[in-house]
Amino acid sequence: MKAEDAVILLKEKGYRITPQRVAVLKALIGNKRHPTVEQLHKVALKSCKNISLATVYNVLQILEDVNLVRSRSFSGTGLRYDPDTTDHAHFVCHKCRNIYDMRITAPPRDSIPVGAVRGFKISGYEIVLRGTCKSCLQSQRKVR
Ligand SMILES: [Zn+2]
Ligand SMILES: [Zn+2]
Repeated sequence: MKAEDAVILLKEKGYRITPQRVAVLKALIGNKRHPTVEQLHKVALKSCKNISLATVYNVLQILEDVNLVRSRSFSGTGLRYDPDTTDHAHFVCHKCRNIYDMRITAPPRDSIPVGAVRGFKISGYEIVLRGTCKSCLQSQRKVR
C-alpha cells in the first residue's frame, strides 16, 4: 500500500485528513524498520513542522483502529509500529535491536496441543525469532 492509498482509506472510514495524519502516514507506510514512536515523530517533523509527539501517538492509535498499523512489543526493544498488518514472523537481533520481517509461515493451528490451552480461546499467534542478524554477524567477523 502507498501512503496515498492509506489516506483514501482513512477518509473512507470517516476520519478527517489533517496535515498531521498525512505526515504520520507518510513516515509509516512502507517503513520496514518497525519504528518507535520517537523515530516516526522525527520523520513526521520533516513534512509537518509543528507536530508533537502526543499527536503522533494519537494518530497511531487511530491508524491501529483502522488496521493500517499494528503495534508490537518485543522484549528489549520497546513498542514498535509495523505498517505490515498481515501475519508474519519477526527476527529480533539482540545486538543492534533491529527487527526484521521473516517470511515464515507459522505451523498450522492444530499443531498446538489442545490440552496445553484448554479453557483458552486463541485469536492469533506469531513467531518471534531471536539471535544475531546478518549485518551484526558480518561486522563481528571483521573485528576478529
Ligand atoms: Zn543486528
Ligand atoms: Zn513486521
